[in-house]
Amino acid sequence: MPRAPFRRKSGTRETSQLVRLAEGLASSKSRAEDIFWERELEAAVTTYLDNNDEEAINRALDKAHDSEDDTFDALADMVESLTESMVVDSELGKQRVTLFCAPILVWGRNKIPATTIPKQTLTNLNVQLGAHVFASKAKIAIADFLFAPDQLPHSYSESREMLSALRESIRERGHLSVDSKTVEDAPDVVCDMRMIIGAVQVLDGEPMFAWEEATTSVEEARQSCLSAWRGQGGAAVQPMLVGFPFELTLPRTFFAACRDADLASRAYSIGASVAYLEAVTATPASKLTAIIGGCWGNGIEEYRIGFSIGDEEDVIHGTIWPLVSDEAEDTPVVEEIETLLAAAGIGTVIALEDRLPLEFCDDCGAPHFPNRDGEMLHAHLPEDADTHGAQLH
Ligand SMILES: [Zn+2]
Repeated sequence: MPRAPFRRKSGTRETSQLVRLAEGLASSKSRAEDIFWERELEAAVTTYLDNNDEEAINRALDKAHDSEDDTFDALADMVESLTESMVVDSELGKQRVTLFCAPILVWGRNKIPATTIPKQTLTNLNVQLGAHVFASKAKIAIADFLFAPDQLPHSYSESREMLSALRESIRERGHLSVDSKTVEDAPDVVCDMRMIIGAVQVLDGEPMFAWEEATTSVEEARQSCLSAWRGQGGAAVQPMLVGFPFELTLPRTFFAACRDADLASRAYSIGASVAYLEAVTATPASKLTAIIGGCWGNGIEEYRIGFSIGDEEDVIHGTIWPLVSDEAEDTPVVEEIETLLAAAGIGTVIALEDRLPLEFCDDCGAPHFPNRDGEMLHAHLPEDADTHGAQLH
C-alpha cells in the first residue's frame, strides 16, 4: 500500500524534538508536569500528522524504541490517540469524533468472506452497537465493508482520512461507502479476523461508550456490554458469515480493539485449528498430537504449534502464537498453550526444549512448523482431507 505523499523531508533535529518531548512526559512524576509535556507533545505530533509526515513519525518511533523507560509508549500513545480521535467545531459545541473497530474472530474450511456489508445488515449493526456498546447520546456511522486485517488503513494518514470520511457520514446520517475494487484481496487462511469499522461522535467530554454511563463497576459494565453485543450483535453479523464459526470481541477505539483482537486471536486460533482438523481429517482431537516449539530470531519471537496425526512425523497443520513485547522468556506462555490444547481435547501435547529457527517455505512463504522430532516442516493436509474446495498449500 503506498504511503501518503510527503510534503517535505524532516531532518533529525525535528525527530529528536518528538523523542525529547516523549521522554519528558514518560519521566515526569506529577500530573502538574505531565500537563506541560502532554500539551507540547500533542502540538508537535499534530503538526507532523497534519503535514502527512509519516516518515518523520516512524523515525521518531524507531528512535524512541532505543530510549529509556516508557518513552516509546508515551510517543506511540500520543500518535495513536491523535490519529484515531479528533475534536471538531459544530453549531452544538465541540464534538469529539473517534474511530472504532468491532473485531470478529472467525475460521472456516472455505475462504472467509471480506465483502460489502448489505444495507439491512448495516442498519442492524448500527442499532445493536448503539444499544449495547455506545453511550446513549453517541452518534455513529459505519463503513459498509467487512475488512480483513490486511485491508485496514496501513498508515496514520490513511486512518485519519478514514476518520474524516466517517465524520462526514455521521453528519449526513448515512454510512461510508467503500469501493470494493480499491480494497486489496484478503489472504485465504483457515483462521482470521474480520473488522467492522466506524466512527462515534459525542459532545467533547461526554461519555462515548455505554460502560462509561453505568453505575456498576466498570469491568462488570464492560463485560455485560460484551455479552449483549455477542448475543444481539452476533445475530446481526451472522448473515455475513453463514457456515463460519465466529466470536465477537469488545468493540473499542481503533488501535485498542485491534490490539485486543490480536491477543484474543492467539487462543482462538488454537481451538479453531483443532476443530478444523477434526472436520477435514475426520480424526477426533484425542488422536491428534500438538507440538509446541519456541522460534528464535534475536530473542524468542513466537511459538509455533505443529499438528500431526497420532505418532506420525508429517505436520498436517500449524498455528502461530506471536509474543508481544512485554512477554519475557520466563512467562508461562507454554503452560497457557498446553492448557488450551488440553481444553480442545488434543490427545498428546509435546513441548520442545529446542531453540527452533523462524523458518518459512521458499516457494510460498508459509511458515514451517515443528514435528515431534523438532524438525521444521511444511504443513500438508493428508491427501484424503475433505477441505470442501478450501485453497490450502
Ligand atoms: Zn510452500
